[in-house]
Amino acid sequence: MNAPLKPGAFRAAAAIAPSGKDSAAPIIRFERVGKVFAGRRGQNPVAALEGIDLSVPRGAIVGVIGRSGAGKSTLIRLVNGLERASSGRILIEGEDVTALSEAGWRTRRRATGMIFQHFNLLSSRTVFDNVALPLEIAGTPKGEIADRVGKLLDLVGLADKRERYPAELSGGQKQRVGIARALATEPKVLLCDEATSALDPETTQSILALLRKVNRELGVTILLITHEIPVIKEICDRVAVIEGGRIVEEGETFEILTRPQHPTTARFAEVVTGVEMPAHLAGQLRDEQQPGGSTVLRVTFSGAHATAPVISRLGTTIGIDVNILAGRIDAIAGKPFGSLLVSVPAGEPGISAVLGALKSLELKAEVIGHVA
Ligand code: ADP
Repeated sequence: MNAPLKPGAFRAAAAIAPSGKDSAAPIIRFERVGKVFAGRRGQNPVAALEGIDLSVPRGAIVGVIGRSGAGKSTLIRLVNGLERASSGRILIEGEDVTALSEAGWRTRRRATGMIFQHFNLLSSRTVFDNVALPLEIAGTPKGEIADRVGKLLDLVGLADKRERYPAELSGGQKQRVGIARALATEPKVLLCDEATSALDPETTQSILALLRKVNRELGVTILLITHEIPVIKEICDRVAVIEGGRIVEEGETFEILTRPQHPTTARFAEVVTGVEMPAHLAGQLRDEQQPGGSTVLRVTFSGAHATAPVISRLGTTIGIDVNILAGRIDAIAGKPFGSLLVSVPAGEPGISAVLGALKSLELKAEVIGHVA
């Protein structure tokens, strides 16, 4: 009899990991990892990764974001042994995998599932048989395979598609098959290689919701690579920004996206935190205050303040009319965040009094110009 696939099932499996493993230790750790590819004929070697230090806490969803060529694929391929590090160490569950033999990797890969941008399903196999494949390779008895695959197809919402072929499925359904297949051997880690980049925005949301469910309910740690900041904003607890083979910034997603320090991070963050100036105002903005005009401010607020009636409070605190020009209120890694462009009349009580009042309400504000 096999164990039912129920919420917490994988977590329970993780809890009975061999003794001596520190459950608070990161499940994956990069220590000063470098990767150099030999140059193709006559060309210089390529340093794809340099000095990578990165920890993936057990049970977290960690995202690595960067533009094309930044080193994302190389980084994730080091975790499943498709590439070997040139320097440094990679520890997975405390085991130094940089020293593993090919046989050692075969065992190790069973504890790591992976999903891909283009799904990589076998077109000649049904949905059921695609999900069953890793179990067949592992020599799992037939009855157990039928039971486990049935439960995985329930989990990903494809129980009614078990006899269909990949060509009969939508992109989102194909990725659901990919996720079920990746989870078949009950891995503790799921690697996602641009898993939603081939999907439309709505399907992306449903796949991200499924990944969050896999993480929260089964306790599977997720390491994903993407060039799409909405993916990071939506599900990642932590994010690392990679550029030119180096991590330029890393930390909790909310912190990193609302207070980016590196210009590359700021450019990514702008997409999910920025507010565009209405076109009719953009051309009118001046550096100097205009007689009888207004001052335009960007006000950002987060956490509890994002849901507080800040603008009406500003009116009652200093008795001015605040005009909202544009805005965005959203959640970043599950925490509310808002950004508004507002205008306040020039003159009394004066812009410094307005900024002071905003500060006392614990709001961040900056003057971005003046209009007539
Ligand atoms: P990303 O996934 O962020 O687009 P990659 O990890 O694919 O970036 O590539 C990082 C750098 O390493 C790029 O300059 C790329 O051309 C180079 N690179 C990747 N794989 C190889 C390889 N097998 N041989 C030589 N250079 C490679």
